[in-house]
Amino acid sequence: MKPILKALSILIVNPNPDFIYQLTSDGKYSASHTTFAANATDARIILQSDRPQVIIANDDCDKIPKLFREILSVFTPRERPLLVIVTDAPFAELFEVSDQIVARSQLPYIWQIIEALLLRGDKANTFEKRCVELESENKLLRDELFQVGKTAREISMIKQAVVHSVSHELRTPMLQVKSAVALLKEDEGANRLIVDLAMGAITRLEGGIRNVTLLNELMSETLDTEAFEPTLVLHILEAALRNLGKSWEHKEAITRVKIDVNPTNASVLCDRQRIIVALQLLLDNAIKFSKDEVTVRATTEGQKVHITVQDYGIGIPQKHLEQIFEAFYQVDGSSTRSYGGMGIGLAIVRLIMEQHHTTVEINSVPEKGSQFTFSLSTPDYTNFNNVDAD
Ligand code: ADP
Repeated sequence: MKPILKALSILIVNPNPDFIYQLTSDGKYSASHTTFAANATDARIILQSDRPQVIIANDDCDKIPKLFREILSVFTPRERPLLVIVTDAPFAELFEVSDQIVARSQLPYIWQIIEALLLRGDKANTFEKRCVELESENKLLRDELFQVGKTAREISMIKQAVVHSVSHELRTPMLQVKSAVALLKEDEGANRLIVDLAMGAITRLEGGIRNVTLLNELMSETLDTEAFEPTLVLHILEAALRNLGKSWEHKEAITRVKIDVNPTNASVLCDRQRIIVALQLLLDNAIKFSKDEVTVRATTEGQKVHITVQDYGIGIPQKHLEQIFEAFYQVDGSSTRSYGGMGIGLAIVRLIMEQHHTTVEINSVPEKGSQFTFSLSTPDYTNFNNVDAD
């Protein structure tokens, strides 16, 4: 006998010696937990104090359906016993109220049948229990997700407030100081060195404020890729370099930058201004973190133009490569401080590339240099006739 049948409490309704003989003859059944009820009325009395797990009714097709129906209405589905009737004359109502109808010829197998039914019920219970557990786990996760979302919303609000004060509250006094220093610059008696230092500091501050404002803009807008225009790569690279040359910090360093576009008339589909900004930021880093030549190279491959900014400077250790695209992340805050910068340039580059459905790949070796590459699509000339000639 399998363990599942051993501890079962069974109620047999309407037994007779022959029936009991047939139930017990194979030795699988143990009488220790079995109760007998002479008829349906006796069964009702027993059920007031007993909770059998299985009720086996021997025929008496007039009374049993009513008894089973009462049981079904009194017990919850989890608590109610397994309802089995042994008969050779089943009818529709019996199928409705019992879990199993066993023909007399099947009596030798009745314990196997009951065992199978109980196991199936057990599986269903386990499954149901697991569903309840999963449901509550799910609720916990939903609550957590809500909390995370709430925190993210709060962080985003704080970030916006910071960006707002940086871009608005600092900009006005900075412009006032800038005009004052510009006036000083014209004054013959002013100390040149101090004025130049002040001008340099202001330019850096101005660049920082511009970048924070741009980062904020990029975080809250999506570009319409339909509005991208065909643009000559050479023109974008030259414009980026020209802009860098206007900055006080880089006006001399840009002579280190070499441009190499192949073929020279290669063009891409992009938001021209945004790509110029991205290139400026990559070039700014390349110049800042190296002393030797910097190359910006564009090569065409099929429908793509790969643009690479390469320097031979301090390089970036492997473990920082993923994080340097996060806003305000710097490889080594203390050492990069001596190079200047706020740690948002690459975050801006990443967002601009996301808007162009592309990414930036880095190859970098400490002390050997870094290579930042992104790819843009070439225009489909069946749709475009003019390439921006500016
Ligand atoms: P930052 O204003 O500090 O330059 P970025 O977001 O542009 O901010 O870059 C983040 C950090 O990544 C830098 O502080 C620096 O540590 C590292 N980094 C970026 N570009 C280079 C490079 N070409 N060579 C070495 N380190 C770089």
